[in-house]
Amino acid sequence: MKTNLLDFDLDGLVAWCLTQGEKKFRAVQLFRWIHHKGVEDFAQMTDLAQSLRSKLQDHADILALPVISRHDSADGTIKWMFDVGQGNAIETVFIPETDRGTLCVSSQAGCAVGCPFCSTGAQGFSRNLSTAEIIAQLWYAERTLRQERGVDERVISNVVMMGMGEPLQNYSALVPALKTMLDDHGYGLSRRRVTVSTSGVVPMIERLGQDCPVALAVSLHAPNDALRDELVPLNRKYPLDELLQTCRDYLAHAPRDFITFEYCMLDGVNDSDEHAEQLIRLVRPPHGEPTPCKFNLIPFNPFPASGLLRSPPERVKAFAALLSEAGIVTTIRKTRGDDIAAACGQLAGDIQDRTDVSGRRAKTIRIHA
Ligand code: SAH
Ligand code: SF4
Repeated sequence: MKTNLLDFDLDGLVAWCLTQGEKKFRAVQLFRWIHHKGVEDFAQMTDLAQSLRSKLQDHADILALPVISRHDSADGTIKWMFDVGQGNAIETVFIPETDRGTLCVSSQAGCAVGCPFCSTGAQGFSRNLSTAEIIAQLWYAERTLRQERGVDERVISNVVMMGMGEPLQNYSALVPALKTMLDDHGYGLSRRRVTVSTSGVVPMIERLGQDCPVALAVSLHAPNDALRDELVPLNRKYPLDELLQTCRDYLAHAPRDFITFEYCMLDGVNDSDEHAEQLIRLVRPPHGEPTPCKFNLIPFNPFPASGLLRSPPERVKAFAALLSEAGIVTTIRKTRGDDIAAACGQLAGDIQDRTDVSGRRAKTIRIHA
């Protein structure tokens, strides 16, 4: 069995190279070939000794994920579906903007948190992705986009862990993938340009702050525990008080001086003026510590089984206005890639997705413009 080198961050690759009797600087060269230059063929790694190249050919490979499908949107958004075996598929979305290119990356096949407005949650949990499967999404997208554009410089400037899955419930695979994204010999992304989005796994937020503090987005979706218990079931374990305290503590390590709160706007569920007032009190309590934050309101993308509806645009605007008037920076997320079914929130990456490839079953996934 060969070792998939995509499974290693630089420290891991150094350790592996040492087991092969190779020095540290060889690992750095190899890491640069793989991630910086996007090369998969050891024969092309011309500054490595022939003896090392043949050793690599015998014992290692750079194994990307098989592509099931690709859809290109009129607005430039690209969605790939990758096969992760046993009937499971995951999706990755590239969102080009004038000043940046963002890749939305999946961390699990399915998700165990079970938020009722998310079809990944409705589908249940299949399994964690490995580090290789997480980083392969970036490796493949970056390499493909560079080739297509005929450029050598980086195309993807930002990564958001906002695809399928709860990244902080796959912590041990996530961290080496993040480190590879940040490594100057890897993708060289700055910490502010790599965002982990979480439904609020409190102990893992704390660990992330110690191990690899990148930008943090927290999926709030409700201004009180009773409602959040329903919308984000993990809240029953880690209630709002605890979550917000952890967010404030995270800022001591974070590359930004605020937390982004995501808030999915659900008609008649969490979108009233009273909910907005409660939110303001939650993050700016009259007698407690404020939580430095920005809000990102996401219009809900409905899927049939949810029984939920998107808040009307006027409601979203009025809600945003209340937060803004209270001095909280609030944006409304644009939906991108609708025409290729790549808008926020409706992924069910199981075998049934393959029917979608042939156009028989409509399906969308979340993206973040
Ligand atoms: N599990 C992580 C990251 C993936 S979800 C998390 O929950 O944060 C990324 C974002 O998409 C989350 O804010 C999530 O709440 C939102 N989302 C999920 N389903 C959605 C839907 N149907 N419409 C709009 N946003 C949705
Ligand atoms: Fe999981 Fe996030 Fe979907 Fe909730 S919103 S079910 S945490 S992927």
